[in-house]
Amino acid sequence: MTATLAENLARAAEAIGNARYGVGFTGAGISVESGIPPFRGEGGVWNRYDPSILDLDTFMRSPERSWPAIKEMFTAFLGTGDRTPVEPNAAHRVLAKWEAEGRIKTVITQNIDGLHEAAGSRNLVEFHGHCRSLVCLSCGRRLPLNAETTAADVPKCPCGGLLKPDFVFFGEGIPPEALADSDEAARRTDCMVLVGTSGVVYPAASLPFLAKRNGAFVVEINPEPTSYTDAVVDVFLPLKAGEAMERLDELVSA
Ligand SMILES: [Zn+2]
Repeated sequence: MTATLAENLARAAEAIGNARYGVGFTGAGISVESGIPPFRGEGGVWNRYDPSILDLDTFMRSPERSWPAIKEMFTAFLGTGDRTPVEPNAAHRVLAKWEAEGRIKTVITQNIDGLHEAAGSRNLVEFHGHCRSLVCLSCGRRLPLNAETTAADVPKCPCGGLLKPDFVFFGEGIPPEALADSDEAARRTDCMVLVGTSGVVYPAASLPFLAKRNGAFVVEINPEPTSYTDAVVDVFLPLKAGEAMERLDELVSA
């Protein structure tokens, strides 16, 4: 007999409530309700730009092609210019609340939108980097990302070097600290909550498999089943991120 949604919510809440080392693992789907379009699929950045503009070699060869698209991404993420600032939604807020309550030890995100930090998550692994700073490809210096540092068509370091956003480009490695921290969290967790991630972008996509192999209970929140659902997931909740997390929080806090 198939469990009802209410039964599945109760099972997930019980696992989260009992967790000694809860870990949140999130992707683009958690930010959709904040108004950030996913990269892939309808309305995604990649419908309008060739993904090669964020390939490291392409960027270094022709930064003047890449920077207009990068600036458009910053506008979408950070709400600069005439856009309203983007705010965390209920799903980000519940993860931060659970961290404050000691249920969640680490949030691992593949997103570069900064919304977990804005919601108050502290022990955060930003697997693909972030949009808070720029790094000089010549001298390694970091500058804050703001209107001033990104004013030029192709932003440059005071040393003359090319500035690159501090998120991970195609053809670029995952920051070693993020790899180590997410690996450790996935090995230690006894309850992993997946929100809005479909498991297509490696190496991040392997983390729920690692958690499962180490005995974690895995909760998945996605509107549709994904490659995780039948492979590693104990409870699948086919809901929007914000609604699912609010309903779980009510049960966990009861
Ligand atoms: Zn420099």
